[in-house]
Amino acid sequence: MTNTISILGSTGSIGRQTLEVAEQMGLQVAALTAHSSVDRMEAQVRQFRPRLAVMTDEAAAKELAIRLADTNTKVLGGFDALCEAATAPEADTVVTAVVGMVGLKPTLAAIEEKKRIALANKETLVCAGELVMDAADANGAEIIPVDSEHSAIFQCVQGCADRREIKRLILTCSGGPFYGMGYDEVGKMTRADALKHPNWAMGPKITVDSATLMNKGLEVIEAMRLYRLPLEQVSVVIHRQSIIHSLVEYHDGAVMAQLGTPDMRLPIRYAMTYPNRGYSPAEPLDLLKCPPLTFAEPDRGVFSCLRMAEEAATEGGTACAILNGANEEAVGLFLADKIGFHDIARLVAKARAEVPVVQSPSLEEILAADAAAREAVLR
Ligand code: NDP
Ligand code: MG
Repeated sequence: MTNTISILGSTGSIGRQTLEVAEQMGLQVAALTAHSSVDRMEAQVRQFRPRLAVMTDEAAAKELAIRLADTNTKVLGGFDALCEAATAPEADTVVTAVVGMVGLKPTLAAIEEKKRIALANKETLVCAGELVMDAADANGAEIIPVDSEHSAIFQCVQGCADRREIKRLILTCSGGPFYGMGYDEVGKMTRADALKHPNWAMGPKITVDSATLMNKGLEVIEAMRLYRLPLEQVSVVIHRQSIIHSLVEYHDGAVMAQLGTPDMRLPIRYAMTYPNRGYSPAEPLDLLKCPPLTFAEPDRGVFSCLRMAEEAATEGGTACAILNGANEEAVGLFLADKIGFHDIARLVAKARAEVPVVQSPSLEEILAADAAAREAVLR
């Protein structure tokens, strides 16, 4: 059970919803971090009074320090300060809600301090899942997933003492805004089209990932790392309504599912209250008012990012770090209107073809693979 939190990425979609939950639950806040959103950070600091506020952008940190001169909050700038926020001694739980693999080092630092990790930042597990899970085991740190699918699976495996009883994890996937379109039609879709997600309001990077289905590919890898299962035991099914958040099939034929209205505050709150459950103000699920629940196979021909992620997951080593680094860079170009929608998949494929995979990588080798993949995209 959580009393005091630090949030890495407090100004983003998950970060802001976490602060809503913190306010409802009366949690203390030790440290908050953001990249450059000074206005939002100033408001958060004035409301939640953390001891530490970090802006990774140095100019933003200087500006924030001036604005907060009348408060007791210490302001730090730069990337290294993220680790200081992640290890703030008062916090028992660190919510990792930054976007991208910048979350890796601070997550490892928090694990070393035996913090509970409420993990939203999926890129960290995708790039260095084995390192992170091994570090968590070695330090006895709990990793509680916040991603709705992985929270659903986590809830469905409560009471399962022997993971060998699990036959298969089934991740549900909304299909994104371009579900059902052919390859050529999808190729014409713009940044504005990709940013219209049917069921969830999220940050821009994950929204584009949801349109390419790379998000589901990253989630397949995330599930494999969290539960140490091979790809054959992790499957994806399209479920347009986002009511069933994911399922676990056991060897005896029982299939457990977690259902709820699509509201990230539920998995965020569960990561705080686990192993207990608290009250949630989220809209209750009324089965009689639900649309019919439908299921379909994803189209890996049109949405090749899902297939590429599954291939990288099977190859292992630095393959997933290369896939992720290339995708982060390519999505950045797409969001800047510099490339088309199918160029994202094309550039990820280019980086995967050009950057050699190293097996059983060290942290340094993972960071080098990430850098090489980004370079391959920009070359
Ligand atoms: P947002 O883009 O909304 O927020 C990202 C946060 O990270 C902001 O606080 C931002 O600060 C900060 N940030 C951005 N770039 C950097 C950087 N280079 N260094 C340090 N901090 C940085 O993202 P989301 O909240 O949507 O997603 C966060 C993570 O959670 C992602 O990994 C995503 O995949 C995962 N997730 C999100 C879900 C959702 O519903 N949104 C659902 C499941 C998982 P600033 O505001 O200053 O830019
Ligand atoms: Mg998800």
